[in-house]
Amino acid sequence: TPLRPYCGRFAPSPTGRLHRGSLAAALASRLDAHAAGGRWLIRIEDIDPPRDIPGAGEDILRTLERLGMPSDGPVLWQHDRLDAYAAVFEDLKAKGAVYGCACSRKEIRAAAQALGLPEGVYPGTCRGGTGGREARAWRFRVPDRDVTFVDRLAGPYTQNVEKAVGDFVLKRADGLWAYQLAVVVDDIFEGITDIVRGADLIDNTPRQCLLYEALGAPVPRYMHIPLVLNDRGEKLSKQQGATPLADDDLLGELERAFVHLGFERIGADSIEAFHREALRCWADRFAEEPA
Ligand code: GLU
Repeated sequence: TPLRPYCGRFAPSPTGRLHRGSLAAALASRLDAHAAGGRWLIRIEDIDPPRDIPGAGEDILRTLERLGMPSDGPVLWQHDRLDAYAAVFEDLKAKGAVYGCACSRKEIRAAAQALGLPEGVYPGTCRGGTGGREARAWRFRVPDRDVTFVDRLAGPYTQNVEKAVGDFVLKRADGLWAYQLAVVVDDIFEGITDIVRGADLIDNTPRQCLLYEALGAPVPRYMHIPLVLNDRGEKLSKQQGATPLADDDLLGELERAFVHLGFERIGADSIEAFHREALRCWADRFAEEPA
């Protein structure tokens, strides 16, 4: 494969305001892109109307702007991409890579329990057909084999997607596109070569690797960064109303995010100076790493 120019991204769901966890992911992905001489794009992942909060996407963009972190290209909104998801989905369907599933949540739970599978694993009930019942969701057929990718921080990460997750949903029973499909379609569309994001998503990555394979696209490099936890040791989540960034101390928030990423506090006197110095530190740390 020809060497593709580095392109990174930050892809928040607009389910609330930016918090310290999302800032750490935004900062790490941007520093990594710029240290590699690449571009960094912002994408608003607003494909889940029941969860999205009106105005949150605009608020996130405004906050990133004030943090001195604008997108290096047009911001992509997933609500503008529904036709693209449908086209890719139809393509996968035509290839027999997806199938309709008639199971309710309750039925899946019962079937998994009866087979002694971990909770949440889809046991493949409708793989061979729904037996005349109407399809609710559409699932991607996964192989029964290990999928391995090399995380730049954690090292090799292996998951047998069939055993850990089962055939996963691409089109939900409520008709909405699943995150797994939308994120991969857009990462391919935007030419994303490197994904830097929170460690809470690492167990999704093997599923996404399978989608890249099915779509004949190169799998990006990955770095999953440590999560920011609250006092109770829980991951911060926009949806659960994590404390948003302190609007009156954005430089302090940047410094804290940088320390969270394992660097020493810079003690910069401006946001511009912070970004300049942080980039130097990041480039130093990851310089020896072959692309
Ligand atoms: N939209 C996802 C989220 O906010 C992140 C997507 C990704 O980085 O792959 O959790």
